[in-house]
Amino acid sequence: TSVIDGDKFDYEEMVEDSHEKSRAKTAREALQEEREKLPIYPYREQLLQAVHDHQVLIIDGETGSGKTTQIPQYLHEAGYTKHGMVACTQPRRLAAISVAARVSKEMGVKLGHEVGYSIRFEDCTTDKTVIKYMTDGMLLREFLGEPDLASYSVLIVDEAHERTLSTDILFGLVKDIARFRPDLKLLISSATLDADKFSDYFDSAPKFKIPGRRYPYEIFNFTEAPSDYLDAAIEASLKIHVTEPPGDILVFLTGQEEIETAEENLKHRIRGLGTKIGELKICPIYANLPTELQAKIFDPTPERVRKVVLATNIAETSLTIDGIKYVIDPGYCKMKSYNPRTGMESLKVTPISKASAMQRAGRCGRTGPGKCFQLYTAYTFHKEMDDNTVPEIQRTNLANVVLTLKCLGIDNVMHFDFMDPPSDDALLKALELLYALSALNKFGELTKVGRRMAEFPLDPTLSKMIVASEKFKCSDDIISIAAMLSVGKSIFYRPKDKQVYADNAMRNFHTGNVGDHIALLRVYNSWKETNYSTQWCYENYIQVRSMRQARDIRDQLAGLLERVEIELTSNSSDFDAIKKSITSGFFPHSARLQKYGIYKTVKQSQNVRIHPGSGLAQVLPRWVVYHELVLTTKEYMRQVTEINPGWLAEIAPHYYQLKDVEDSYSN
Ligand code: ADP
Ligand code: MG
Repeated sequence: TSVIDGDKFDYEEMVEDSHEKSRAKTAREALQEEREKLPIYPYREQLLQAVHDHQVLIIDGETGSGKTTQIPQYLHEAGYTKHGMVACTQPRRLAAISVAARVSKEMGVKLGHEVGYSIRFEDCTTDKTVIKYMTDGMLLREFLGEPDLASYSVLIVDEAHERTLSTDILFGLVKDIARFRPDLKLLISSATLDADKFSDYFDSAPKFKIPGRRYPYEIFNFTEAPSDYLDAAIEASLKIHVTEPPGDILVFLTGQEEIETAEENLKHRIRGLGTKIGELKICPIYANLPTELQAKIFDPTPERVRKVVLATNIAETSLTIDGIKYVIDPGYCKMKSYNPRTGMESLKVTPISKASAMQRAGRCGRTGPGKCFQLYTAYTFHKEMDDNTVPEIQRTNLANVVLTLKCLGIDNVMHFDFMDPPSDDALLKALELLYALSALNKFGELTKVGRRMAEFPLDPTLSKMIVASEKFKCSDDIISIAAMLSVGKSIFYRPKDKQVYADNAMRNFHTGNVGDHIALLRVYNSWKETNYSTQWCYENYIQVRSMRQARDIRDQLAGLLERVEIELTSNSSDFDAIKKSITSGFFPHSARLQKYGIYKTVKQSQNVRIHPGSGLAQVLPRWVVYHELVLTTKEYMRQVTEINPGWLAEIAPHYYQLKDVEDSYSN
């Protein structure tokens, strides 16, 4: 393995240049200058030479050095887009959008023209597009339509260190097509020191290192773990704001809810501090934040104002925010975990790994010396944190990926070229589920149902629900439900000071205790009847934005129905037909009431409850199917519909035996 290393370069000198801002210049020129100040810029020619010389290249460079925004542009400028697009994958939707927006600005083109992005349910590209940022999951799906990816001349698998499920599967697929497409260039780009591992996997591909620009930073640890890390994080932000010299703050939190709480508390406590202290501008950033607000985190901070960015893991390596001088790291993230024995998947707040902690700390020393406050002890860091995060492929349900692989003609998924293989148990569980859903036959071969299911960019349970709706003549209703379930954010709006009104409004949709799925359908249909009125949404405490997204998704699902030749038929008044369709996909998620509001899942015998936000939370039907389990204080079923237990045996006779579904309270 050869290492191509760039020459040493004097960074300090380049930083000096940035003070020379007085002369007038156009925005475009200014951006051009910024591009030339990035650490990657001095390596432009060497990098292009290396891409020219080698088919596969491993790129290893510190976060913020310019890999994601610059490499696709360099390749474009060097002519690689003359005979195909440059694809650059991102594990996160938000990163794909944000980076595409930035690059289109740098190139002075309209977003979606030369530079575009493609994420699930949103394709912002045209035939003009030559640089395409996309989620790793979208590139994976493109293999289904175009197995040799002939429309691309370069594939960049970016943020490879994140090791998401889709990225790991892409590794195997792109390695394979590179063999029979010698014209295709493949770049694997990562922010951590995993380059050796990637190089080994890609038949000893050469590594190209881009040194980052690093300033010294100090790490401060707590001597004792705080009892409430969110509180401690807020406290720490305020303390920095009051006592430390200028410089922005980045706080790592686990999700939207936590970020919203922190934002509220911070605002409240700042008010309490009086007018003597400077302004603190709070910028939240998480996946479901409306796009126009997302861009706000990049706005330069006015003088005498301090910015505090409240971010999820997205700011760890995917997005770089300039001007951060202080990092607050509580040491947690939200992580998926999966139990292959029970087939249960859950999202839990989990301690981060050492590698993540180091990445987070590194965010404070990018534009000058910084400080990182770790809200945990040095002992925790050294003795309790794992070295690396376990790749997602080893802690997730694999049914979707196995279905995709089967569609690509990879019959023996056990022998797929995994960088880190999942457990046999997890693969078997996935095969079992696909068999139960009739997507595979007993020989493990793809069925017609399975092929139809794979057309939908949804989990197999949802796509099965849609495919099954043909039989129950309610496809029109079912795709509305599927769309409503696929909206990333909440449908109902429940402001703290108007909860009673909001709850009343919501109750209207639940009349007759129809269950959460049909309530969602009613919301959608009522909105449609008002001709998609915004006013109606306000009056009914419904999130307009979510509804518009649901409409977009629904349109796409309708298009896909046509592709699999399922007629659009509505059966809105026959709730049983709709519920049977739901059960056809979600029968593995069935539960039976025990006592005191506790349910037991039928297959795994796990204790669960109906989520308090469900329309059935007070009704407690004996038998239900649920959309998903969420773990907060307890294990809750979210989006619940009552079923007749007989349906389970009728719809999934190969999965449930009669004794499973006998209607009795005994166990
Ligand atoms: P890398 O991929 O190596 O981590 P990037 O190419 O993402 O680096 O970032 C390079 C620079 O571009 C950073 O200084 C970052 O602040 C800037 N940048 C990236 N995205 C945006 C954006 N959406 N708005 C403003 N600046 C951005
Ligand atoms: Mg990047």
